[in-house]
Amino acid sequence: FINSQNKEAMIAMEMPPMPYVEQALEPEVSFRLVKSERNQVINNKNNKKMKIQMPVLPYATNALEPVISEQTINFHYGKHLQNYVNTINGLVEGTEFEGKNLEELVKTVPEGPMYNNAGQSLNHTLYFLQFMAPVKDNAPKGKIADAINAAFGSFEEFKKQFGQAATSLFGSGWAWLSQDKDGKLVITKEANGGNPLRSGLNPLMGIDVWEHAYYLDYQNRRADHISAVWEIINWEVVEGRLK
Ligand code: MN
Repeated sequence: FINSQNKEAMIAMEMPPMPYVEQALEPEVSFRLVKSERNQVINNKNNKKMKIQMPVLPYATNALEPVISEQTINFHYGKHLQNYVNTINGLVEGTEFEGKNLEELVKTVPEGPMYNNAGQSLNHTLYFLQFMAPVKDNAPKGKIADAINAAFGSFEEFKKQFGQAATSLFGSGWAWLSQDKDGKLVITKEANGGNPLRSGLNPLMGIDVWEHAYYLDYQNRRADHISAVWEIINWEVVEGRLK
């Protein structure tokens, strides 16, 4: 006699074991990512042919509205980032860089198309994973707030200096909050697809000031976009990147 419970157990015993997928972390990872984003940036160590992957958005494509519209996400994430990821995968194929993770690529590839596309892939991975649905009067707390206050005096002063860097950047590029070798927070500007990791900094938060990041929603009003973006920064994610 087989009751339903026994039957389930028997079926379960006949099931082949689940394949074990090892998600080994590279020991030389040079900056800390929160757990949810780690596996998105770091390739499987045991598979040298593993390609750079798109990050999985931790929110719905319309969740950042009205700060960033669904239409902008669809183009920026779905078209621009997908294109950078496809391009870097194509460029490294058959070279010594194939199978390396994004951080290694950004630190070691030659200037030119490889650095531009590796940089933009890492930049946008950090960018899209640092957002959340808008929160009024959103502000950092705890360790990240302390680090910002220590470096800039106050969150208000930090926003002022960061906004100044982002709006004064000529042409296409990024404004970054990073950690220097001594652990101190610094604001830097990068042209085009540059990432602070290239010069030994630990990037914590980046704001994209390429026109494709804001033109559909703000047209030429870059400063308005920058001042709105503070509502959607997930400071817990940023804090998780501190060394
Ligand atoms: Mn972009």
